[in-house]
Amino acid sequence: MRAVTYQAPGVVSVEERPEPELLDAEDAIVRIEASGVCGSDLHIYHGRVQVEPGFTIGHEYVGTVTAAGDAVTTVAVGDRVLGCFQTACGRCWFCRRGLYQRCEHSRTFGHGATLGSLQGTQAELALVPHADLVLRRVPDGMSAEVALFAGDVMGTGFHAVDASGLRPGDTAAVMGLGPVGLCAVQVARAAGAARVYAIDSVPERLAVAESFGAQPVHLSEQDVRATIRAGTEGRGVDVCIDAVGDPRVLADAIRLTRACGSIQCVGVYAERAEVHLGLMWLKALSVRGGQANVIGHVDRVLAMMSAGVLDPTPLVTRHMKLEEAADAYGAFDRREALKIVLTP
Ligand SMILES: [Zn+2]
Ligand SMILES: [Zn+2]
Repeated sequence: MRAVTYQAPGVVSVEERPEPELLDAEDAIVRIEASGVCGSDLHIYHGRVQVEPGFTIGHEYVGTVTAAGDAVTTVAVGDRVLGCFQTACGRCWFCRRGLYQRCEHSRTFGHGATLGSLQGTQAELALVPHADLVLRRVPDGMSAEVALFAGDVMGTGFHAVDASGLRPGDTAAVMGLGPVGLCAVQVARAAGAARVYAIDSVPERLAVAESFGAQPVHLSEQDVRATIRAGTEGRGVDVCIDAVGDPRVLADAIRLTRACGSIQCVGVYAERAEVHLGLMWLKALSVRGGQANVIGHVDRVLAMMSAGVLDPTPLVTRHMKLEEAADAYGAFDRREALKIVLTP
């Protein structure tokens, strides 16, 4: 089968790889119909996340089950399914508490040996461990390009809002309007945010956020702090979502959030960073971070997508063939598309 493999920083290629086989009774094999290219794939592409050369990448996927182990009960051969970007065992201390993102045996698709040596989904076929937890049937009438958001990007946007404690009538700010930030805007509106300030410096992204019901604020051409102050009687927003993962953004979030408000960091942090802890303390802010509990949210996210309450369709701005992966990664790296979907 053909698969997109990482080779070296800035180089991916399409290679012939052995077809996956069932290794465990809880495994399934999925024939991939569509797989997304994600911001986390760019970390690999740039060499910031180390993956062995020749490893298949990708972790957002929709396809059809072609084989299932004896212990798989919730999906069957022939079912059209979408999957979550990571796996969980369902039995460990964290899984028993529903904290699937911290499963002691979690593996992430397409991230090499550091995250469990699970081959990626930008391929014709993929092995899916713990299929009952990781896979869901695609609701009738939902397109592949929409469904694949449930197992990653929309799930992460949902988690950002859910974990922030946002309540109906609150005012929120979403900083960074990549696909996750834009999904967070939609979820915040759906969750009853009275107003959502969407902050970025790319006009096209601000326009999408506005179409989702947010108030767009240009990071450099507008005075973000003055705008938010004016709209909140000087207090600041109740909830701030950092969908970037940069200490400068977190510093801004600390200033833009009202006293006793909450900041949710879904953007990825990996290094030490300095923030104004004194200001955080004085304002009694709650700051949380971490990877999204996508497995824990996927059924709710699918229900909202199926009902049309959440709709990531405007985020899919380019379709390409698996063979064009090198061009797709180049284009995505140059920010020429919000979300590229590859089809075998
Ligand atoms: Zn992703
Ligand atoms: Zn577990």
